[in-house]
Amino acid sequence: MRPDILNPLFAEISVLKGIGPALARPLERLGLARAVDIAFHLPVSWVDRHLTDELDMADAGRVIGIELTPVDYKASGGARTPFRVQATDRFGNYVSLVYFGKNSGWPRKMLPLNEAKFVSGKLESYGETLQMVHPDYVLPPEEAATIPARESVYGLSDGLTNNRMRDLVAQVLARAPDLPEWIEPSLLARKGWPGWRAALTRIHADPSDAQARERLAYDEIFAGQLALMLVRQSSRRRRGVPIAGDGRLRAMLKLPFAPTGAQRRAFGEIEGDMAQATPMLRLLQGDVGSGKTLVALMALLNAVEAGMQGAMLAPTEILARQHYETLRKMASGLPVEIAILTGRDKGKVREATLMGLADGSIDILVGTHAIFQEKVQYKALGLAVIDEQHRFGVAQRMMLANKAAQAPHLLVMTATPIPRTLTLTYYGEMEVSKLDEMPPGRQPIQTVVMAATRLDEVVDALARHVGSGGQAYWVCPLVEESETSDQAAAEARAESLRLRFGEAVGLVHGRMKGPDKDAAMAAFAANRTQILVATTVIEVGVDVPNSSLIIIEGADRFGLAQLHQLRGRVGRGDKPSVCLLIRGNALGETSRARLALMRETNDGFLIAEEDLRLRGAGEVLGTRQSGEAALKLATPEHMAALIDPARDDARLLIDRDGGLDSARGQAARVCLYLFERDAAVGLLRGGVTGGD
Ligand code: ADP
Ligand code: MG
Repeated sequence: MRPDILNPLFAEISVLKGIGPALARPLERLGLARAVDIAFHLPVSWVDRHLTDELDMADAGRVIGIELTPVDYKASGGARTPFRVQATDRFGNYVSLVYFGKNSGWPRKMLPLNEAKFVSGKLESYGETLQMVHPDYVLPPEEAATIPARESVYGLSDGLTNNRMRDLVAQVLARAPDLPEWIEPSLLARKGWPGWRAALTRIHADPSDAQARERLAYDEIFAGQLALMLVRQSSRRRRGVPIAGDGRLRAMLKLPFAPTGAQRRAFGEIEGDMAQATPMLRLLQGDVGSGKTLVALMALLNAVEAGMQGAMLAPTEILARQHYETLRKMASGLPVEIAILTGRDKGKVREATLMGLADGSIDILVGTHAIFQEKVQYKALGLAVIDEQHRFGVAQRMMLANKAAQAPHLLVMTATPIPRTLTLTYYGEMEVSKLDEMPPGRQPIQTVVMAATRLDEVVDALARHVGSGGQAYWVCPLVEESETSDQAAAEARAESLRLRFGEAVGLVHGRMKGPDKDAAMAAFAANRTQILVATTVIEVGVDVPNSSLIIIEGADRFGLAQLHQLRGRVGRGDKPSVCLLIRGNALGETSRARLALMRETNDGFLIAEEDLRLRGAGEVLGTRQSGEAALKLATPEHMAALIDPARDDARLLIDRDGGLDSARGQAARVCLYLFERDAAVGLLRGGVTGGD
């Protein structure tokens, strides 16, 4: 249960003064529902009030504070013209204070004629004259000092002003409790960080306060690391089954190639882990095409040889089907029963699969998250493999680990290489194996960036490619982050390509019915269609080696890691491949630089680092829409600088006080709850188990 001390922070914002229906909407749009959300809605920048006694055209655009004397009113002539107060500085220069949509009573009362006032707001030039629209402050001159020299600027949405936001923040800060210190004292002293409440107060008052910001970022990273350490601790406490296959099935594999050194190494590490009674927690990282599937199959066969079952989880239906086909092909001739289960399988087929799992006649099950539903009971699940795991969060991994009576060994495979800081932040509880070597004989992918104005040339190139027996993907842009509009774009593109290529054009998008999706993929895989128009559903893992051209429309709208994934759909066969990135016509510096990087390198790690820097973690991990909490306070720079100390600190604390019972342990619990890692607290020894 959340400690009482945090209650004021977790209260709904409706407890704050002045929250009416007009404010509720814009706050909701920003995801600000509770006091804590407002507390952590940190200012994005600030304005420094320029204090002056003379109006100056050169200050137009700045926020100024100045003593003015109202000398005249210009009443509004109609509903649309504003009420103006003419005022002068002490040198006789004029400024017009402008009030829209108000009845003039209020400005008249605030600004009586011939009475000096201290006025602050943004100065603007209006033709030859100066004006200030809705001044932020109008005060008696002697109260001028009560206005802060620096003011925070917040991320806003329609209907919300900075002044309102600042008022809400002030109310939240007034309610914010003093929290016990969870940071290791020597670290705190070394960094010179303020306490939690002081840091929060300071950052809202002065957004440039790097120390206060860093402290809060650290708290967030620390909570994450501590949660992962607790997951790790609880997993290591569970008993698994040591698995050591005798190699007989693996010896029967007839592969057309020899495993790479990296594949051998990774498999050696996995085999070592699986032989232990402590369940494996291992992350397999490798770039697109580095051959993760084979490593997974070897691990699965290791389990089957030992009389256990294996399960492989894919994030999408398409990918699940493809893995199923691939595994069956690779394992053909082996006495191994492989089955598939997705949300789509119903009725008798589903019943039969469930029976087979329960009685052990099915050795390996491939599928979407349906394979870990309540009803699905395994006879002896020894290994769970999660492919393209970046769509799953820690909570889902934990659920998986709790599935079997005895914890299965867990192998997680990421779709993309991810920077070290992200690996530690999101998979910090796991050991890491890396496939840092590509299978030999890979054809290079040539990447070309083209402007959308040259679409005709692109279509001609496509015609030549198809004419000479090639196949191609055509990826449509993300229109509005909404699947409906993606779908519309893809349908329109397929339509227009069909005018020229007729039946050669297939279409697949996320909102198609399952069987239709399969049919479209199967037709393309069998070369019955030569052009596959698709949304990003083909992003992960899809493998059609004969397709050696990929055209990506609106390339500048994708994240780099995502483009790298998409590009990885080609370069899988024996032909040289081409990736055409079609960019918007008016492109900024950064977008150009990003696409240039895509053209220049095929190094997934480098691309991921750059994407992290430019677009943040959600982009690299592909979790932006998946609900896995992104870090709110820590920037990539903070993560790079603070992940190691946070990790060390968390590990040390768990080693000394695994139950978080000491005073500092109790404080650390508060930190976990503050960042809503409630599930992790549930894993504490003697705590409520499996709390969610
Ligand atoms: P990813 O790591 O992206 O999941 P895959 O497992 O899909 O990569 O493998 C990509 C391609 O490389 C597949 O067609 C696979 O058969 C092939 N492949 C895997 N390992 C090797 C190897 N050692 N030598 C040659 N080709 C390989
Ligand atoms: Mg794969």
